[in-house]
Amino acid sequence: MFKDTGGNDAASILLNLTDYRVIDATQEPAGRQVLIEPKATEAACPTCGVITTRIHARPVHRVKDLPTGGNDIKVLVRKRRMACQETACERRSFVQTTEQLPLRARITTRLSQKLVDEMSCELRAVSRVASAYQVSWPTVMARANMVGELVGNVDRMFIRRLGIDEHRFRKVRYARGRTGKVVRIEPWSIVFTDLDTGKILDIVDGRRCAAVKKWLKSRPRYWRQRVQYVAIDMSAEFRKAVRENLPKAKISVDHFHVIQRANLMITQVRRRRSHEVLQRRGRAADPAYKYRKLLTCNLENLSIRQVERLKLILEADPELGVIYGIKEHVRELLKTRDIHDFQSRWAVLEKSVKTTKMVEAKSLFRTLTAWRRELLVFIRTRLTNARSEAANLTAKNLKRIGRGYRNHGHYRVRILLYTAGLRPC
Ligand SMILES: [Zn+2]
Repeated sequence: MFKDTGGNDAASILLNLTDYRVIDATQEPAGRQVLIEPKATEAACPTCGVITTRIHARPVHRVKDLPTGGNDIKVLVRKRRMACQETACERRSFVQTTEQLPLRARITTRLSQKLVDEMSCELRAVSRVASAYQVSWPTVMARANMVGELVGNVDRMFIRRLGIDEHRFRKVRYARGRTGKVVRIEPWSIVFTDLDTGKILDIVDGRRCAAVKKWLKSRPRYWRQRVQYVAIDMSAEFRKAVRENLPKAKISVDHFHVIQRANLMITQVRRRRSHEVLQRRGRAADPAYKYRKLLTCNLENLSIRQVERLKLILEADPELGVIYGIKEHVRELLKTRDIHDFQSRWAVLEKSVKTTKMVEAKSLFRTLTAWRRELLVFIRTRLTNARSEAANLTAKNLKRIGRGYRNHGHYRVRILLYTAGLRPC
């Protein structure tokens, strides 16, 4: 015979499920079984709002809950189907609901919350979370999707400085197209980052101009007008898309990519010289090949021994020496924070590039000229895409943990959840 203890009995305290009390607990061969029921004996009809205590039926449903004292617990809830006593009301009966078990819920709110927390506080595969809480993979992913939609609402956010970057979402694939021809599929993802907070705003499938344009166009006008700066890498397509859709924003180009371009110039000259002097490609025995990394390193980071080696390489080949000087000049150009200083260094660089008459140097200078306006913004603001690159690292780690993703939607939601800052743990 059940004795009413008002929910203050030991079993109810141990289960600790708000608004419910334990009415029975048994040890079955398959594990423990707990029968619970809502504490409230009355409920308001959802149609007319009249409170009723008359019970129409007592269905028993199985629900999933957080593990209590081990994973082998099975929770059964004896619900109340109440009868509406209001004669004018067309609804005859309704099921009593609580905060922990809303209408038709098969898992408790606290378990649902825990599943989302597990995925947002650390990089964990969905399948791991599912097996830890003995729920199915789609159950976990459905919760993630629900919360992901809420946190991914960019239009509500005030973005002043935006970062745009891209990374490969999965391996390159080859598939047979409609015409029977094999096509190469490049799965690129574009990442939009808030450079003030480092938070990932969105991840879009697709590459370059079209995807960026589409994303920016779908933002409301007030949102686009609030963006003051955009940091991108040296991609003319990104620049075009930003100029067309964010006319008020100033574009800054990341100095990292400029130096990368200058290092490429050094490598081109080193290869060309090897062919000109030795009529073959570089080998491990050639100093310029053996110590090629020294050519692209920052001079101030080298040890005394490394500097000596570098000197030997540069002295052995005057062309390499000249091009190295140009690269260091480009680095110096980017170090300054003063516009006038930049202008004078630019003039010196232009003159020395013309004097060298080297194709590689001229090509680099043409690129720099094409990006001069963006470089000036960088000099003034020092706005870089470093935070986007950091966000890319998070995305990469997530892919490693999940052993790759096939569905871009799932991939996007996982990253948004992780970087949304919903981290209670
Ligand atoms: Zn009613």
